[in-house]
Amino acid sequence: MKTMINNNQNKNDMIETPSNKVESVAFTEAMKAYETILEAIGENPSREGLADTPKRHIKFLMEFCNPKPFKFTTFDKEDTDEIVVQLNIPYFSLCEHHFLPFYGFAHIGYLPNKRIVGLSKLARTVDFISHAPQNQERITSQVAEFLMEKLDAKGVGVILSGEHMCMSMRGISKPGAVTYTSKMLGLFKEDMQMQKQFMERIQLNNK
Ligand SMILES: [Zn+2]
Repeated sequence: MKTMINNNQNKNDMIETPSNKVESVAFTEAMKAYETILEAIGENPSREGLADTPKRHIKFLMEFCNPKPFKFTTFDKEDTDEIVVQLNIPYFSLCEHHFLPFYGFAHIGYLPNKRIVGLSKLARTVDFISHAPQNQERITSQVAEFLMEKLDAKGVGVILSGEHMCMSMRGISKPGAVTYTSKMLGLFKEDMQMQKQFMERIQLNNK
């Protein structure tokens, strides 16, 4: 996982990436390599439409795969003693096997212990973890484990749906096939009632 949690007490809620710096030498090398790829597929890298494509695509990859760190804001849970559920969080990622996009929705639930999280931070967590060469299973686990650890929650459940361009537009060519992955931790794994409650919220939402 590319994320690093800073254990410095004052910055305990900051997430950091190892480096957001665009190395100019690496960039120049990447441009050359990209032109070679264009040649390999029978294209002329210097024709007008493609002249700046290597630069654009490499910039996109560098930006996409280095999401901005964010503050994981939490609050006292007060009297919240039921599960908190957020559904339909859209995400985009890049399949690490084919470097083609996959995307879908994340559904997250947790049972607070002492802290609740600012609601936008659930979506930020999904973005931060999915913006990388990834696979859907790993995003699901990493989001669940991250929330479990940062919130010291009693339980966390994460379900992701995903359509994979490597399955839709190449290979087996099955557009519309949706993959579901899930990760249940703590009481969401141990207590079937709790898990059922989470699943029912999702089903309710789909009606
Ligand atoms: Zn793939």
